[in-house]
Amino acid sequence: MEQIHCKDFTATLKRILAGEIEAPNREVITDPKEALNLLAGMDGEVMSAYQVKFPLGEFDFWHVRVFTKTGGMYQSFTGDGAILTSAGRVVKFAMCEHEWDTSGANHQRGWHPCRCRKCNMDISVDSGD
Ligand SMILES: [Zn+2]
Repeated sequence: MEQIHCKDFTATLKRILAGEIEAPNREVITDPKEALNLLAGMDGEVMSAYQVKFPLGEFDFWHVRVFTKTGGMYQSFTGDGAILTSAGRVVKFAMCEHEWDTSGANHQRGWHPCRCRKCNMDISVDSGD
């Protein structure tokens, strides 16, 4: 899978919701508590899709809910999400397997840099004045 740049996350999500492409880096969460915990942590949007694309043999992909996660000061979509299928299956996905660079932090001054080395997503938090 090609690395997706963070500026393309929203466009990629639209293609997933349209059933054009498979959600990248999928993982089925089978433990019920872990699945609920994952969905509870999805603080972004909840969207509906008529059909998303799964590999052949995975059949319960109709009428799904798609949850997204946000991060940083501006609640940007981090590319992480979860698909809840009509059969109750929870599938986690990630447009980037983030590798956070937090170097240069100055926590006392409220500067918490956090930038992904792969997709360039920046969820740094500056809570200083
Ligand atoms: Zn990333």
